Amino acid sequence: MFRLTSVNGVPCYKVTSFEETGLVDHCITTRMGGVSGGCYSSLNLRFNCDDERANVVENFRIAAETAGAGTDQLVLSRQVHEAEVVSVGKAECGNGVLRENAFESADGLITDEPGVALVTLYADCVPLLFLDKRTGAVASVHSGWKGTVKRIGAGAVRRLCEDYGSRPEDILCAIGPSIQEDHFEVGDDVAEIFIKEFGSDTAVLYGSRYHVNMQRAIIKQLMAEGVPEGNIENSGLCTYCCSDVFFSHRKTSGRRGNFAAIIMKR
Ligand SMILES: [Zn+2]
Repeated sequence: MFRLTSVNGVPCYKVTSFEETGLVDHCITTRMGGVSGGCYSSLNLRFNCDDERANVVENFRIAAETAGAGTDQLVLSRQVHEAEVVSVGKAECGNGVLRENAFESADGLITDEPGVALVTLYADCVPLLFLDKRTGAVASVHSGWKGTVKRIGAGAVRRLCEDYGSRPEDILCAIGPSIQEDHFEVGDDVAEIFIKEFGSDTAVLYGSRYHVNMQRAIIKQLMAEGVPEGNIENSGLCTYCCSDVFFSHRKTSGRRGNFAAIIMKR
């Protein structure tokens, strides 16, 4: 279950199955509780935009605290809609927040080191958080439609197994707030890719236009890696429908900030 809660008055979502392990600190932020204004109101975690850098830095401090981490523990992704999953540790802490982002391509981050807070950013694309309930290894993965087609979620599971000795049956996955089928209209070319890769129930006709169900395609690719369906928690929260709670690229024609999915092994 995704549970809406608040930390120091800042609203956020937490995943109950993750909390029950006692192994991690984590959260998915909303757009509420930050210091930015206008279309970035208010907890904007997007640097490359018209928002003031000082606002975004302060928002990262707030987001880190909400997740149960310090700003100096954050490791920021470099999201380029590829399927690269990068293994990080203490040496990468501060990347992209307190200093330049050293990654060229890092849509997914994994670690089994305690105290390393993995951060990925969103405004309609799909947040995937992973936790090995046996070892405490974690991953934070950005799966937009391109990353979904490139199976970055499946790639993260494989990397957890190869790098940290995880077993698929021990891996919990949370699918965060993202644009859902009701609002994710796509061109026929994109629909055809999903039908070919994941089956006809991942691209559905709404009248004459196709809508893609990325979350369903992700669940299928995770199950194909051996992750039990019961380990996968799908929030069902639509960023477009809930654009007052989350940033949505489509709803705002791109005038928006980013919210974050953050996870850290204790
Ligand atoms: Zn919707």
